[in-house]
Order: sequence, then C-alpha cells, then structure tokens
Amino acid sequence: MMIITLSPAETKRLGESLAKDILEKGPEKRALVIGLIGDLGGGKTTFLQGFAKGLGIRNRILSPTYLIMKRLMIHESRFTNFYHIDCYRIKDVKEILNLGFADMVENPENIIAIEWADRIKKMLPKHCLILRFKFLDKNKRMVRITDYSLVDNIT
Ligand code: ADP
Ligand code: MG
Repeated sequence: MMIITLSPAETKRLGESLAKDILEKGPEKRALVIGLIGDLGGGKTTFLQGFAKGLGIRNRILSPTYLIMKRLMIHESRFTNFYHIDCYRIKDVKEILNLGFADMVENPENIIAIEWADRIKKMLPKHCLILRFKFLDKNKRMVRITDYSLVDNIT
C-alpha cells in the first residue's frame, strides 16, 4: 500500500489509524514489531507521534536524539508496552542487544517501533511490519506499508 501525505498532520493521522487497526486486529500471541526506514526528515518520528496517540498514549513522542530507546505504557489494550527505538546513532548491533532487544521482541505484550530499522536488519524478527518513508517535496511524503514482510524484503 502506498500513500502520499501532504502535511505532518496527515502523516500523524495515518499513524493513528494504523495503531487503531493494530489494537483491533493485530497479532494475538506475539509482539508487534514495526520497522521504519527511509529518508531523514521523511516523517518516521512524525508518524510515530500519531501512532502513539492511536495507542492511547498521551506522552509526547520526541525524536530520541540522545536516547536510543524509550518505553511508554499502553493502557486498556492487550499490549502493555510501546517501545520507541531509534537506530540512527547505532554503531554496533550490540548496543541494541544490550538494551534487551532479544527478549523485547519475544514478549507478546510489546509493540516495538524501530526508526532506521535497516541498520539492525539482521536482528529484526521474521514477522515485521515495514514502513518506508520518502521525502518528495517540502510538505509531501510517500509512505509505503508492506504487510508483515520478511526481513529479506528490506532493501
Ligand atoms: P524522520 O523521523 O523520518 O527523520 P521527522 O518526522 O522527524 O522525520 O521529520 C519530518 C519533518 O518534516 C518534520 O519537521 C515535519 O514537520 C515535516 N513534514 C512536512 N511535511 C510532512 C509530511 N507530509 N509528513 C511528515 N512530516 C512532514
Ligand atoms: Mg526520526
């Protein structure tokens, strides 16, 4: 599925509706992992602001410039944790493993969104929703959503 958005608000709404979809019909018995890849300024963090809102999270979602990972609580859902990870500054996949990534993706209570997921490609689970962001113009972005694609599909 490919979508063009014409404003940050539109990208946020897209994230919000994906979150609502996931709460309704997401995986029942495993974690949900979302890999966000594509251009710097492409709208990954903006998308996740709407996504978190759709999960019912009120905290502000920031670009984790200094933090690699942030955990937020999800209330009134079968999921309890939303992890926002940003691999932009990762130099070694060990940095992610040291944060407990392996257990995190095994825990069915977790939703894990990973910006720059292509940087930890080898560690992404097989069932992973991939979102690609492309900068088209000042306010125009293209978002492509693949259905639970295999890691091999990431280019
Ligand atoms: P990334 O996390 O992919 O690096 P950000 O979401 O942090 O990107 O930044 C996107 C920037 O582009 C923000 O400043 C946002 O306001 C701006 N922007 C302009 N148009 C859009 C759009 N259609 N969708 C998302 N962001 C947009
Ligand atoms: Mg970002």
